[in-house]
Amino acid sequence: MSETKNIPYKIYLEESEMPVSWYNLRADMKNKPAPILNPGTLKPVTFDELRGIFCDELSRQELDDTTAYFEIPEEIRNFYRMYRPSPLVRAYCLEEKLKTPAKIYYKFEGNNTSGSHKLNSAIAQAYYAKKQGLKGVTTETGAGQWGTALSMACAYFGIDCQVYMVKCSYEQKPFRREVMRTYGANVTPSPSATTQVGRKILEEFPGTTGSLGCAISEAVEAAVTKEGYRYVLGSVLSQVLLHQSVIGLETKTAMDKYGIKPDIIIGCAGGGSNLGGLIAPFMGEKLRGEADYRFIAVEPVSCPSLTRGKFVYDFCDTGKVCPLAKMYTLGSGFIPAPNHAGGLRYHGMSSVLSQLYHDGYMEAVSVEQTAVFRAAEEFARVEGILPAPESSHAIKAAMDEAVKCRETGEEKTILFGLTGTGYFDLAAYEKYNNGEMTDYIPTDEDLARGLAGVPRFPGNEI
Ligand SMILES: *Cc1c(COP(=O)(O)O)cnc(C)c1O
Repeated sequence: MSETKNIPYKIYLEESEMPVSWYNLRADMKNKPAPILNPGTLKPVTFDELRGIFCDELSRQELDDTTAYFEIPEEIRNFYRMYRPSPLVRAYCLEEKLKTPAKIYYKFEGNNTSGSHKLNSAIAQAYYAKKQGLKGVTTETGAGQWGTALSMACAYFGIDCQVYMVKCSYEQKPFRREVMRTYGANVTPSPSATTQVGRKILEEFPGTTGSLGCAISEAVEAAVTKEGYRYVLGSVLSQVLLHQSVIGLETKTAMDKYGIKPDIIIGCAGGGSNLGGLIAPFMGEKLRGEADYRFIAVEPVSCPSLTRGKFVYDFCDTGKVCPLAKMYTLGSGFIPAPNHAGGLRYHGMSSVLSQLYHDGYMEAVSVEQTAVFRAAEEFARVEGILPAPESSHAIKAAMDEAVKCRETGEEKTILFGLTGTGYFDLAAYEKYNNGEMTDYIPTDEDLARGLAGVPRFPGNEI
């Protein structure tokens, strides 16, 4: 193996090698993702409708499925320079531990205070809000990674940040909440009495500890009713995948420098932003017929949107105020079982990734959370990094592929996205360490209940 150590443990890029444009994967898709629809008229959402919710430039990016490259503004590139390029790591120690002939690489996005890749899009969204002269932005956050990233980005550009945080996280995960407040964000537990939709949800489900979909509805309402505010979202949207393409572009440049070509590219999939970003330039080559790769999306068995969901138009939020997106979904009312600690709990999936999956360009697997934490523990012990539970889904799938290589003797090159660190997820690790973590596989009845909430109209039957 010694000759392969010509490849350093960590591949960094020079500043001059960093991407100057984001890559819009949609430009190379023959089957474009279906347009987002206005839930009232069932017509494609127009720029004028969208700009009431999102910043102008972000609305433009959201609707543009033909422009391949968007220049990254200098101000954003300057911010990226503070914590990027993120390292591409050759997992020599993990390879040795697994006794696999496979070559394993991971792109580590946890090297910033927010602890995840979400900062890549947060800084872009805060920049466009600032440039438009807005006072601030509103958003939702579940466990808090997105809210933390956004509060850092808003502090940097000096705009206000209003975060609706899922109530159970607000109460049980005070640490990220305090990071957000330290960066100046205003954090409200959701559902709250500060919005109409919040009050309605509280009336219907008193004592509810909230959900991401419900917090989205509140944040959208706050944005459209407050002068000088717009709503921003940290995943699922095509604009977020566009910003996250920085992950894949850096990875591709680093790999090309050393003549490395991945055979398999793996990422965890919640709303699809890190996976969409990591695979973007590679998938572009596959779509253009220039190269072939296997892509694997990894999701929890307890929230299996790609592997068990339906490919239909659905609401993006529980309050049903957002546009409808055609995607693999479990229904906007689907809430994973309470024993699920492993993140990635969104009911839907990026419409870009959904279309690619539907067209056979990508595979998907689902994994149980106890196996995910076992993989996280093994990874932490040999590679040193304490991974986020979300990221550990990708670790688990990458290890499975590497073990297959051990059995077949194939020297495949495996690349996966290590999206973040797990320091704020220690309650979940505690559960695992105490042997109290369990798995729950939703029954067909559980899934049918969620899917019952999918809107029905001609052409949208489930
Ligand atoms: C939010 C998050 C994810 C999942 O979101 P995607 O949009 O699917 O990328 C994965 N890992 C970490 C660390 C996260 O914070």
